[in-house]
Amino acid sequence: MVHRSTHLAWVAILAASSLAAGQGPKAAPRKVVKTDAEWARLLTPDQFLVTRRKATEPAFSGKLLHNKGKGTYACICCDNPLFSSRTKFESGTGWPSFFAPYAATSVMNEIDRSYGETRMEVLCATCGAHLGHVFDDGPPPTGLRYCMNSLALKFVKDVPASTKATSKDGGGPKATPDDPARPKQDDPAKAGGDGS
Ligand SMILES: [Zn+2]
Repeated sequence: MVHRSTHLAWVAILAASSLAAGQGPKAAPRKVVKTDAEWARLLTPDQFLVTRRKATEPAFSGKLLHNKGKGTYACICCDNPLFSSRTKFESGTGWPSFFAPYAATSVMNEIDRSYGETRMEVLCATCGAHLGHVFDDGPPPTGLRYCMNSLALKFVKDVPASTKATSKDGGGPKATPDDPARPKQDDPAKAGGDGS
């Protein structure tokens, strides 16, 4: 029985470590499950067709295709962070393209054999939304090209640190330094406002 309990302990450790590796410091994996009727209420018809019916938006039609802003591309259905602007590149294909997902656990893949081809479909790991496909003809460092539908994404712009430091119009003492997602890096004027 000693062996048995040791074994159980290992199972627990492995489970915990895989959770930690996959999810960061926050919490257990989150899943969003809704019916088609619920999704249809939350999405535009085009967004619904792409994310819940695996349609593909016409090339060069997406509003995020040429977006150069710094920030995060999240799932239009469930807000799961999917891609960072740091991995976006101009592929020339007509769809927003990224060479890596936001995190290894942001997306999941499934083999798609539709249209007589074998492609690797990319889905939101949280809600299962169809996002696009991934190909192996991308740029370094991964060599991958995540070919995404703009309609499946929403862009969340980064709030630049400088904007925080120099509070625009002396609103008050609220400097909001409590942003756990953002490690404070170069922040010369932290803590307090009127130090200049
Ligand atoms: Zn999602």
